[in-house]
Amino acid sequence: MELTPAEVWSKVLTLARERMPEQSFRTWLDGSEAVGITDHELLVEAPSDFHVEWIEDKYGEDLTEITRRVAGRPMTLSFRTSSASPPPPLPQVEVAPNPPGRDRAGIGSAPGDPGAANEDAPPLAHHGALNGRYTFDRFVVGNNNQLAAAASRAVSEKPGRTYNPLFLYGGVGLGKTHLMHAVGHAILRRSTSPKVAYVTAEQFMNELVRAIQQATTREFRQRYRRIDLLLMDDVHFLESKEGTQEEFFHTFNALYDAGKQLVLTSDRPPKELPGVEDRLVSRFEWGLVADIKPPDYETRVAILRKKAADDGLTLDDEIMDFIARSCTASVRELEGAVIKLLAYSSLRKEEITLDMARTALRGVLREGGPRESLQITAQMIRDRVASEWGVKSEALASKRRTRDLTVPRQVAMYLIKEILDESLVRIGGTFGGRDHSTVIHSIRKVEGELEEDDAFARRVLRLRDELSPR
Ligand code: ADP
Ligand code: MG
Repeated sequence: MELTPAEVWSKVLTLARERMPEQSFRTWLDGSEAVGITDHELLVEAPSDFHVEWIEDKYGEDLTEITRRVAGRPMTLSFRTSSASPPPPLPQVEVAPNPPGRDRAGIGSAPGDPGAANEDAPPLAHHGALNGRYTFDRFVVGNNNQLAAAASRAVSEKPGRTYNPLFLYGGVGLGKTHLMHAVGHAILRRSTSPKVAYVTAEQFMNELVRAIQQATTREFRQRYRRIDLLLMDDVHFLESKEGTQEEFFHTFNALYDAGKQLVLTSDRPPKELPGVEDRLVSRFEWGLVADIKPPDYETRVAILRKKAADDGLTLDDEIMDFIARSCTASVRELEGAVIKLLAYSSLRKEEITLDMARTALRGVLREGGPRESLQITAQMIRDRVASEWGVKSEALASKRRTRDLTVPRQVAMYLIKEILDESLVRIGGTFGGRDHSTVIHSIRKVEGELEEDDAFARRVLRLRDELSPR
């Protein structure tokens, strides 16, 4: 019998888990999900670009081998980033051919209901579209999000009867999507087979476009009007998309009139969406508009404690304090810091210490961060590149010219030039006194590779961003 992608992947993970440290497993593989399978390929999504690169790099071969065993045939493994973590700038209009990922569109009913893979789901929708980690009990309530959290709870207890719509707004990475999914989970748990749909405004538009192309707008409408709870994420995306606004206006009215609950999120309040027509803006304000602000220090610490506890991680108070002081802009940033720190510690096979946190998080520190940190040196760049490639920093200064050393050595030289603009002679000095022509050759080599090899380029540029002073 043919296994589903999820079944294959879950077997692979069970085997992989036995082979690797639990902390690494949780950090890198826990949030991954198989989304497709063909005869010879399994497609898996991970929460961020960073995860994808890390998994491919460190575990790719092992996982491929296990997958082959599980599937009983030659298989390749492909990873990609799920769309749960959109990069900070607003999404551009893009009719993406790819099925959206973790936050993907989905219309489904209660988990565990076998009949739930409903035939009327949108073409790209999968069942179980909500992120399992985005629940109320994993959400830390602080001064910054109190109203939004309370209103979300109220809505989940009495959908359609308290605030309708509930409109949550705030900057990137502050927990809007999390709260919205939490409402979805709570309602799925509470009532018997409610139809819950989670969709980003962009996905809504893409589905609409497809429906128009395929002359299936009637079905599209019916599908959306049969829903009990509509969670529409990132409605600021609707700006200047008149056709989509028009369609959404009708969907909104139909659901609202039928007493169905709507929850919307946006990066701005309704009034500050100039490209959205007035009649929609005014509807957005019918219920409750609640903002989410960046977390204050106490909330940041509370969130770190919670994340650490949830992940079975121990972080000393001084380290938490350091991270909380360093990462001030968003919760996503806080999470990124923890992931990075874990990566760093599992790579170096060392306990997490305050000093390690200082080094590992140099890249995420912002202006507001602790003052004693910044000053990047050539040595640090060399160290960081060495750790990225899993070799000893001193080895990069040695005469050895095996391939596992030449690549990181060249990258480190390139980055030192780029970031610190040191002279070729000085750079040579950091690498055991190599002469300037070797250095220049190395830099050219990296420049050439950057053009040729995308994965390499991403890796190098990520390091550059991480190491560049802000
Ligand atoms: P947004 O949709 O506002 O851009 P997300 O909901 O995607 O932000 O949140 C970014 C990350 O931060 C998610 O992993 C989420 O779980 C986490 N997060 C945000 N706020 C909180 C909170 N108050 N408590 C716990 N985790 C949070
Ligand atoms: Mg979001």
